[in-house]
Amino acid sequence: MIPAASFAGKRVSLFGLGGSGIATAHALIAGGAEILAWDDNPDSVAKAAAAGIATGDLRAADWSRFAAFVLSPGVPLTHPKPHWTVELARGAGVEVIGDIELFCRERIQRSPTAPFIAITGTNGKSTTTALTAHILKSAGRDTQMGGNIGRAVMTLDPPEPERHYVVECSSYQIDLAPSINPTAGILLNLTPDHLDRHGTMAHYASIKERLVAGSDTAIIGVDDSWCAQIADRLERAGRQVIRISKRLPLTDGYFADGTDLMEAVHGRYSRVAFLEGIGSLRGQHNAQNALAAVAACLKVGLELGEIQAGLESFPGLAHRMEQVGRKDHVLFINDSKATNADAAAPALSSFNRIYWIAGGLPKEGGIEPLRGFFPRIAKAYLIGEAAPAFSATLGEAVPYEISGTLAAAVEHAAHDAASDTGGEAVVLLSPACASFDQFKNFEVRGEAFRQAATAIDGVKSIGGPR
Ligand code: ADP
Repeated sequence: MIPAASFAGKRVSLFGLGGSGIATAHALIAGGAEILAWDDNPDSVAKAAAAGIATGDLRAADWSRFAAFVLSPGVPLTHPKPHWTVELARGAGVEVIGDIELFCRERIQRSPTAPFIAITGTNGKSTTTALTAHILKSAGRDTQMGGNIGRAVMTLDPPEPERHYVVECSSYQIDLAPSINPTAGILLNLTPDHLDRHGTMAHYASIKERLVAGSDTAIIGVDDSWCAQIADRLERAGRQVIRISKRLPLTDGYFADGTDLMEAVHGRYSRVAFLEGIGSLRGQHNAQNALAAVAACLKVGLELGEIQAGLESFPGLAHRMEQVGRKDHVLFINDSKATNADAAAPALSSFNRIYWIAGGLPKEGGIEPLRGFFPRIAKAYLIGEAAPAFSATLGEAVPYEISGTLAAAVEHAAHDAASDTGGEAVVLLSPACASFDQFKNFEVRGEAFRQAATAIDGVKSIGGPR
């Protein structure tokens, strides 16, 4: 745990007592702050109180006595409207911050040179964070990973000069971290997302920009116009900017040429790493993630050989184009995290003979946006509530069956793929739907797929349950 000493002897209010809220409360207490914590959910308040955290209704508190207000990133700061606690804090002139801000202040106090890599973007944050941490760890660096992935940031080990932090940041967390100042800040991409919570695309982009604007080195994916403009703006302001592109040769920066990761210096190119044969990093989207990780690892002084070794041993993240099993020429891929059409697109674009399991609780727009990938689909196996709508979209374009359940879909898809003679065939769960009609969440759905796939006679499991 990192004791939050920046508020020693001061009073701090805190709202949101989920896992990270409780961890943050403990860090503040350990640092010597006097806190008053609250949540709208009485069970969470009771749990916090049982864990020794002082709780009390913040409506009744004297806000003039708080030095800061720590808000959980799940609670609205601005849209659709500020939470009532935010109104009270603002009315009393109390700064509103989150746990990443506490971390940044502790790092600056304790060990400002501790390498800090912060990662954001609309898609690929977790993969890039896990990959960067994996490369650093496998190169023998003391590495701590957390934030929006895995451990809450204040539960990590305290900053020391040689300790590397790899921290995934959601836009909500950045919004609550005004002094975020990573050694290397990564902004992967920007597409419309969470606009209910951020109002407009311009506002959403401006929050993400803060992470790279505060970085010693800004690593920016320039394949979308929002990010390209941010890179130009920061460079004009005299900041160090490293551009990455998953599809275009750049004059300066890092770009992907197929599976080769290239460095460009004034228009001269050299290969710095490659993804050929790395099953956990298939697809152009993963080239973007890998380029960002490579640029960040080079920035903190890793050798190319160490980086390549880390890329090759990356196990991938569960439920994101995760290879779970193989039988002869048939590969089983769990992409349960793909809960809408946009998220399913990378997987569908990464394979050619696809036995596609799709469906669940449908989202706005269905699978129409995926039409361009239909020629890659040998057959579709439709499950859950979305099956009738999806079958109407597939129409004559793709052979399909309505399998109903995931178990039936896996069994039928595996059977059909086994007799495919066109090279590698892939049984792919990339549902383009939420899971809630048939499963508790996407993780449970992914585990059910893994179990069904590996229970098939002759399927060799790749990796294990995580
Ligand atoms: P996040 O943490 O930002 O949600 P993940 O790394 O968990 O991202 O990946 C979630 C899904 O997003 C993946 O299954 C894949 O479909 C898609 N994805 C991953 N990386 C990228 C990327 N760089 N660009 C676009 N889509 C991506």
